[in-house]
Amino acid sequence: MAGRLASSPYLVKPHQKIKLSHFPTAETGRYQNKEEAAADLERHRQQLDELQELLTADCHRAVLIVLQGMDTAGKDGAIRHIFTGVNPQACNVTAFKVPTPLEMKHDFLWRAHRAVPQFGTIGIFNRSHYEDVLVTRVHKLIPEKLVKERCQQIVDFERALSENNVTILKFFLHISRDEQTRRLAERLADKDKQWKLSEADFAERAFWPKYTKAYEDAIAHTSRKHAPWFIIPADHKWYRNVAISEILVQTIGKLKMSYPKPTFDPSKIRL
Ligand code: AMP
Ligand code: MG
Repeated sequence: MAGRLASSPYLVKPHQKIKLSHFPTAETGRYQNKEEAAADLERHRQQLDELQELLTADCHRAVLIVLQGMDTAGKDGAIRHIFTGVNPQACNVTAFKVPTPLEMKHDFLWRAHRAVPQFGTIGIFNRSHYEDVLVTRVHKLIPEKLVKERCQQIVDFERALSENNVTILKFFLHISRDEQTRRLAERLADKDKQWKLSEADFAERAFWPKYTKAYEDAIAHTSRKHAPWFIIPADHKWYRNVAISEILVQTIGKLKMSYPKPTFDPSKIRL
């Protein structure tokens, strides 16, 4: 599936070692500005809506979209802008927060598996099971050996999902540290945006290099044909949206799906 996407410059090939600093944060592909990209984003939104309807009619597969990134990378914004227009009945977003006491009493994949979308629907993970090899690693909540083991468990988990008709696409929203500084400053200065901030966001900033390393390892270990990672330049929000939505429509558009035949002969119906 992802093989057909090999042309995406943002795709991380299986087992490819990566340095995030080698991936662009501010590029805008073939677009000069937001206005140029707006028409494509709108087209992608309509295509997503149509594809989602086919996905629901076909009802043999699900699409799981994983969004990860540093604080302020734009996970919430991407969801809002890309999925405006998709039928809310067939789209489900799960936010992964600090595990609840109940979640702590289970293996780390339990809450992720419970949130996997049902056939016919699109599921979006706003953060994900990857937090369990990222924040937990950065803050030394688990031993290093377990990080490796969990990465392998994630690969196995995602392979099992994919073999059961769940198409997985994973996006790392890649912003520069300067861009994070700008976004935090903007939120600090705007009374209506301060609610988005927590003290933890400022504390986490100090761990930027550790998060970078944790992301590089996690992405390198878990990008597979059945569950590829894309490192999306995300300094420009409008480009982030159009770049992600393009990959979504290309991939979902290639899935084998069809409208089921009616269970009756419509030509015989007289109203
Ligand atoms: P936000 O996405 O801003 O709502 O913040 C959610 C917070 O939950 C982030 O600081 C995450 O790092 C944290 N979080 C998510 N999953 C885990 C986890 N498995 N272990 C510890 N912290 C987590
Ligand atoms: Mg936050």
